[in-house]
Amino acid sequence: MQNTDKVNRTGFYSSSSSMGSFSYFLVFVFCLVPSVVCQVQEFISIDCGGTNNYDDPSTGLAWTRDAGIMSDGESVEVKIPNGDLLQYRRRRDFPIDSKKYCYNLSTEERRRYLVRATFQYGNLENEETYPKFQLYLDATKWSTVAVVDPLRVYVKEMIIRAPSNSIDVCLCCATTGSPFISTVELRPLNLSMYATDFEDNFYLKVAARVNFGATSKDAIRYPDDPYDRIWESDLDRRQNYLVDVAPGTQRINTSRNIDIRTREYPPVKVMQTAVVGTKGRLTYRLDLEDFPANARAYAYFAEIEDLGVNETRKFKMQQPYIPDYSNAVVNVAENANGSYTLYEPSYMNVTLDFVLSFSFVKTRDSTRGPLLNAMEISKYVQIGSKTNMQDVIALNALRSMPAESVWTNEKGDPCVPTHWEWVNCSSTTPPRITKIALSGKNVKGNIPPELKNMDGLTELWMDGNSLTGPIPDLSNLINLKIVHVENNRLTGPLPPYLGSLPNLQELYIQNNTFSGKVPPTLLTGKIIFSYEDNPRLHKGKQMTHFKLILGTSLGILVILLVLLLASLLLLRNVQRKKSYQKSDDRGTHPSKFSLICFLSHCTTSVYPVLLCPSGSLHINTKPSTAYSIARGGHLMDEGIAYYITLSELEEATQNFSKKIGKGSFGPVYYGKMKDGKEVAVKIMADLSSHGTKQFVTEIALLSRIHHRTLVSLIGYCEEEEQCILVYEYMHNGTLRDHIHDSVNHKRLDWLARLFIAEDAAKGLEYLHTGCNPSIIHRDVKTSNILLDINMRAKLSDFGLSRQAEEDLTHISSVARGTVGYLDPEYYASQQLTEKSDVYSFGVVLLELISGRKPISMEDYGADWSIVHWARSLIRKGDVMSVIDSSLAGNVKIESIWRIAEIAIQCVEQHGVSRPRMQEIILAIQDAIKIEKGSQGNENKSSRSGSSKWQPAHPTLLTKFLEIESPDLSNGCLLPSAR
Ligand code: ATP
Repeated sequence: MQNTDKVNRTGFYSSSSSMGSFSYFLVFVFCLVPSVVCQVQEFISIDCGGTNNYDDPSTGLAWTRDAGIMSDGESVEVKIPNGDLLQYRRRRDFPIDSKKYCYNLSTEERRRYLVRATFQYGNLENEETYPKFQLYLDATKWSTVAVVDPLRVYVKEMIIRAPSNSIDVCLCCATTGSPFISTVELRPLNLSMYATDFEDNFYLKVAARVNFGATSKDAIRYPDDPYDRIWESDLDRRQNYLVDVAPGTQRINTSRNIDIRTREYPPVKVMQTAVVGTKGRLTYRLDLEDFPANARAYAYFAEIEDLGVNETRKFKMQQPYIPDYSNAVVNVAENANGSYTLYEPSYMNVTLDFVLSFSFVKTRDSTRGPLLNAMEISKYVQIGSKTNMQDVIALNALRSMPAESVWTNEKGDPCVPTHWEWVNCSSTTPPRITKIALSGKNVKGNIPPELKNMDGLTELWMDGNSLTGPIPDLSNLINLKIVHVENNRLTGPLPPYLGSLPNLQELYIQNNTFSGKVPPTLLTGKIIFSYEDNPRLHKGKQMTHFKLILGTSLGILVILLVLLLASLLLLRNVQRKKSYQKSDDRGTHPSKFSLICFLSHCTTSVYPVLLCPSGSLHINTKPSTAYSIARGGHLMDEGIAYYITLSELEEATQNFSKKIGKGSFGPVYYGKMKDGKEVAVKIMADLSSHGTKQFVTEIALLSRIHHRTLVSLIGYCEEEEQCILVYEYMHNGTLRDHIHDSVNHKRLDWLARLFIAEDAAKGLEYLHTGCNPSIIHRDVKTSNILLDINMRAKLSDFGLSRQAEEDLTHISSVARGTVGYLDPEYYASQQLTEKSDVYSFGVVLLELISGRKPISMEDYGADWSIVHWARSLIRKGDVMSVIDSSLAGNVKIESIWRIAEIAIQCVEQHGVSRPRMQEIILAIQDAIKIEKGSQGNENKSSRSGSSKWQPAHPTLLTKFLEIESPDLSNGCLLPSAR
């Protein structure tokens, strides 16, 4: 009995509990609920060292022995008296050597999984020492497994978003004993469960998952938890080291159902129990392995007592003290929108110590003490860098060559944590292959051409095999020092590049069947070159004296010709410069169009612009002088706006007869220039209200900004009191027309919307980061996103743009922009930053998702704004109610979620909490990938429209929801909370 108890205490075996049949019933019900997927068919459960496949009688889970997938190591019987869990009867022991041993598990790229490895050693035999070794997930260090209690099951869990279509769970680097393993388990999670903002760079290593108020020491897992997480009992002190429990702590439970459909779907059974601090306090202390570290911490609350009418349960988190959050009040029933309903606040990024002391304290006006149902703490583990992809591709090509040796069997990453026996690696990030050592391995066939990309390679040893064919093009491998391909059956000529590899020191090619002439550069004596026993290879003749003279003379002639050409070009440039100078001197136009020199410039994709004499940039806005040059077409070609006469424009627009729109700037007409170029001609209606300053600003800005995602300014005109701007014509009008005015347009599908969003985001990012100083658009909206003939989007209307630097020092008196898109922080403070554009862009994203206008009493009631409306629905997890009805059914919900989440961050109240444009582009690209089908599993499960995320009460709970952008500089995470 004692030992059975021990097995139970390991937290695995929910023995024939009275809830058993109820649990199966629950799973059955879950399978019918569309928002919770029954994923058991997708579970992978490997019994390492197991001798047969079987169904676990306690859980119904199917376990597979590892014999077919693991050929290394040996199956060993585990000595546990009366051990009754089938998967712990045997383990697999691996040799004590410098290799790593890996289990390869199939995954769906980008899907989230719980990966679990468990270890139970059992009693020692003879003079053995307890093992201590390393556990890796791909190239990511997962944990050190150190056995101190032979009867304990050591559980290591990692939550990941699969980086590719498989992962490797690897053991290596034993310091004592031999590496061993008991089980490997893979559990797919549902959609956005355990999503974090940091998952591109960090996995989540589970440090504690505790079920408070548990009714026994048994852990809860499948089938009570359809995702088979292990919820340890708070009575199992040995697992959790839970100490310092406050006096008056009582355990409560209910048999009533709990609505757990929020975000992480904890098991109902876990939520049916809780602890309450009847004396006003709940305190605990527990150890967190591998801490201090940055963590993701979730608390799970559900009011499971029936409170009287005048009763309340309100409390605050006193410890750990986190400024801004510790003063907020938790009111479980209110926050969850009712009793028996889950409320799950989380800290998405908090720094915790090895010893975590936490306490909840009731507020003065509360009648009941604090309550806690469960908690979950995971450590952010930086994803390790895998070997360079090109190197891996080349190694795989080598491994696919016919060979009789066992060297092709090595698994996992070629370099991390330990390198394959036949390669050496650099210690760079990512690691590069520096040496291939395949001497005498019986390899047959041609040397794979993929080797050409291994430019970190310094040594290639492939001698003593049966290689055939020619030496492939390895001219890129400039680091190659040593090449041994002797004693093979290689053919063909010796490639001449071999002689010019800058670092080559040794080349051994003897005893092959190479033919032709040895490149003379190999015979200079600078390298050790061994080439005998190649009967058809010959040295060739030395260069004759005559040839030498001829070669030298030709060389000198070529140099002279080049010099002559260069002088001619120089002369032409000087003359051209003089002619510009003269035309500038003749300029007599009013000062408002006088030369504007900008110290700023945009870095990429900018067409050349004229340089001021001082070296600063010059925007040519002088009509009469630039005109004569520009009409020749040169300046237009160079991407600088040129002056166009009114009569030319009258002709192009057929006397301004085809009006295509009207903005605050004035009417816009369609035109076609003489050269056939279609243009949009904007007339500034009222100069006095906008002023020529705006006109000049627009010309100045647009002239020097050229980017694929920005509408180009072609020219301008200023005659007869009229200021006119001429832009490239965008055939498909504005984005606004396409999403809000579908009369003449077919509604855009989701992928088309995503591409448009990506283009517009890139345009904005270019303004923010590609220009120095950066430019703030100030009027980002769907009517300023224009669509070309191919439906690619470009940002337009820089009339309101200002250089960011200007506004950092000046606070303008009036907030500019368009109602519905205006950043409230900018409106209140008049302090303009790039984040104001981010806010407006967030509104555009919400319009794209919903197909609704930014403001509308009819759509949003008293709130009138799309931001408030969408935010509350999205935070409740109800994205279905936000989606444009014309999209419903034709989109992948996960793709919509990606955009919804980033949009909500964009419209955060405070600019600092909003993401940068680069992050937004990444999110959009992510959504595109998902929508295009790289995820592919969305149809299996979807977030139901009725599921909830979080309520929006002004308490601790909504504070938890505010996601701050992580600072990933130096690979570190700074604390933030959700
Ligand atoms: P506001 O001036 O208030 O910001 P707006 O951005 O719509 O509003 P304009 O930029 O003057 O104002 O554009 C008015 C309309 O002219 C646009 O809605 C669009 O239909 C059309 N238009 C503007 N520029 C172009 C262009 N380059 N190609 C095609 N149509 C254009």
